[in-house]
Amino acid sequence: MIPYGRQEITDTDIEAVVRALKSDFLTQGPKVPEFERAVADYCGAEHGIAVNSGTSALHVACLALGVGKGDVVWTSPITFVASANCARYCGADVDFVDIDSKTYNMSVSALVDKLKMAQKNGCLPKVVIPVHLSGQSCDMAAIRGLADKYGFAIIEDACHAIGGRYQGEKTGSCKYSDITVFSFHPVKIITTAEGGMALTNDAALAGKMDLYRTHGITRDPELMTQPPDGPWYYQQLELGYNYRMTELQAALGISQLTRLDEVVKKRHRLAGRYSRHLVNLPLTLPFQEETTYSAYHLYVIRLATDITQLSHREVFKALRAAGIGVNLHYIPVYRQPYFRDLSCNPDEFSEAEAYYREAISIPLYHHMSFPDQDLVVDSLKSILA
Ligand SMILES: *Cc1c(COP(=O)(O)O)cnc(C)c1O
Repeated sequence: MIPYGRQEITDTDIEAVVRALKSDFLTQGPKVPEFERAVADYCGAEHGIAVNSGTSALHVACLALGVGKGDVVWTSPITFVASANCARYCGADVDFVDIDSKTYNMSVSALVDKLKMAQKNGCLPKVVIPVHLSGQSCDMAAIRGLADKYGFAIIEDACHAIGGRYQGEKTGSCKYSDITVFSFHPVKIITTAEGGMALTNDAALAGKMDLYRTHGITRDPELMTQPPDGPWYYQQLELGYNYRMTELQAALGISQLTRLDEVVKKRHRLAGRYSRHLVNLPLTLPFQEETTYSAYHLYVIRLATDITQLSHREVFKALRAAGIGVNLHYIPVYRQPYFRDLSCNPDEFSEAEAYYREAISIPLYHHMSFPDQDLVVDSLKSILA
């Protein structure tokens, strides 16, 4: 089976991890801050807070922004459930904004309509979490403008998007957002096995996220409510978690980061190859905005089901039977039983529903061989013939 995504671990990566393993620190050593600095510098952001997953990064981001009971957080329905769960962890309600018919990212016009309605009903969101699906940035300038008008904070879920750009700025620069979140799960662009990071240009938010990832505990006398009792002293100021990244993970991340630009370039080369070879099939191929440079985490095709003989489900099954590890990113989150009970109305999401009827993610990872890619192309051609 050709997987839809796969990590690449080089000898240099392995040596870096072994060095960390033999060092004095397995956790809470120098590698984590070094990785944070490297990612923040790469993206052009001030602060990076490394944690043990993208999900944890979303959680500490929500906590730092003060999301709690009685608040509402909006995100895209076409995302991994973690983009919505982070708000639920904080006791907040979640609602969704329909997607754009071309980019499949959160639709700015749907967002405008929903904000106008919410203002009328007195239920504006505290935080909006746009998701850069497949690695292509959302229209962040437009969303920033709406945030200023309606007073919500922005967390960019950039779990697909490290190495991408928007209007010339690296995704993660936080030019248009309060916090940007990355995941380093093995299927993502670069990996630390499990791992994530939250970036921000706001020192206060960085400080809060730093607290929330280690039990809410500080050893900084400046932050304490009284002078230290002695040199052993620390204070727990908030109810935090143990979301720390290990030194092994950070060492792997530092090593992987050195190849990031190369990795994304290779993803573009493969995506371009797909687009050339699949152009005459009854498919909609990924649309790229001119203002964005995608990290190309996913290559999503949509079946023109009005033309094809086979249904979406049949094409999907035929591809799997041919050894092509296709996937569907994603089932609209409001369709999940857990979220269905939170009374979202599927009629509001006609674009997300249409997407769910037609989308298939075909294999794409930067070290995929051309013969493997040709196998995917030939399988699609014969199945759709
Ligand atoms: C992978 C992913 C997450 C969660 O990241 P983990 O590191 O797996 O916790 C969140 N949002 C999106 C869009 C993702 O793709």
